[in-house]
Amino acid sequence: RSRTLLGLLFIDLDFFKEVNDSLGHETGDALLVAVAQRINACVRESDTVARLGGDEFTVILPQLADPAAAEHIAQGIITRLAEVFSVRGEAISLSASIGITYFPSDAASVDGLLKNADQAMYVAKRQGRNRVGYFTPTLQEAAQNRLRLVNDLRGALDAGQFRLFFQPVVSLATQRICGAEALLRWQHPKRGLVSPAEFIPLAEDTGLIVRIGDWAFREAARWARRWVGHAGSRFSVSVNSSPAQFRQPELLLAWPAYLESLGLPGSHMTIEITESLLLDADDSTSQVLARLRASGLHIAIDDFGTGYSSLSYLHRFALDALKIDQSFVRDLDTKPSARALSESIIVMGHKLALLVVAEGVETPWQRDFLSNAGCDCAQGYLYSRPVPPDEFEALLRSNLGAPGDLQDGHG
Ligand code: C2E
Ligand code: MG
Ligand code: MG
Repeated sequence: RSRTLLGLLFIDLDFFKEVNDSLGHETGDALLVAVAQRINACVRESDTVARLGGDEFTVILPQLADPAAAEHIAQGIITRLAEVFSVRGEAISLSASIGITYFPSDAASVDGLLKNADQAMYVAKRQGRNRVGYFTPTLQEAAQNRLRLVNDLRGALDAGQFRLFFQPVVSLATQRICGAEALLRWQHPKRGLVSPAEFIPLAEDTGLIVRIGDWAFREAARWARRWVGHAGSRFSVSVNSSPAQFRQPELLLAWPAYLESLGLPGSHMTIEITESLLLDADDSTSQVLARLRASGLHIAIDDFGTGYSSLSYLHRFALDALKIDQSFVRDLDTKPSARALSESIIVMGHKLALLVVAEGVETPWQRDFLSNAGCDCAQGYLYSRPVPPDEFEALLRSNLGAPGDLQDGHG
């Protein structure tokens, strides 16, 4: 009413879920109370501290003299929350990511302000947590851009705008193609090809990924059936999956019957899952995974080593393959630690009877290092970029006919 400057903070605790999972909900609850008390102690009597739910808090700072005052308070909260908590006999370390937005300069409505603060908080998370993120005009533009893209995404499947590209997976022992990864592409009528890095997160947030992922699997399976004839008994096409698909598993559970109708044995298809799926797996997810695998489908962990480093799931779930994340492969030449980690992942994978695939192989040196370390397969621009199905088919024919190098990555 007074049109004075107001600051809104959106506070999200980093790694609260891990604390909750490892120490139990009662400790988690007690910790939230302690967090609330510390936040309260950082603000004035006239400010408002609220818990929105879960590990999310907001602070309303009315009648600010200037924006710097809000930043100062946010920084103070970060510092206080980073100090060790002592809760029910446990010493717990936490940190927080905070987003800041201002009324009236950033938004004039409550909804708008909350959205801004939430986005600013995500900026803080992306930049490495334990910090403050700000709402800026660029963020706003990105938000509007996202909104338009989501609208277009809703119609994209029915309009037939998705394509699958295939990237060869090559056996390091024989240098022959032993599989492919199917990668989604969105042919947008105005923007051209949109990268999955841009639209998959949107499809996940909106739940659209459930149907899109189903389309990708079925399309990939049809191509796999066409190619297995040329490619031999161990050829497998892998398809990425998102955790949301496992939360609404009806479509996934229909895959085995679909493969049967195609006459394609399940082992020619691999479902790539994320580490976070296994970490968060409830009974239902575990059962879905077990049923898919029992039907003969293979299961691979994608981007292995970058999620939460919880190895316990490796003996709780039956799996077939590990894909070493590109970040390790990229640093092989320069970082001894990347070499040590890759070698260890390979040894560990083999001890667990898993196939080990390295992603993002770009140089002959990386290929040779991985090969010497005993890695089974490699995938990357050294061999080929992801290509449309007809180009993949040409690669498959030439590589299987004439052993040796594939044509180097083109496109
Ligand atoms: P991902 O599953 O880890 O796929 C590997 C990504 O690395 C692909 O990016 C691929 O083009 C890229 N890549 C391959 N070789 C190299 C290399 O040598 N160097 C470098 N720098 N990059 C390489 P892309 O196609 O943009 O896909 C990005 C991500 O999008 C995928 O990561 C995956 O998480 C997701 N995605 C793609 N298709 C689907 C899908 O059908 N469903 C779901 N849920 N996610 C998908
Ligand atoms: Mg993948
Ligand atoms: Mg990957």
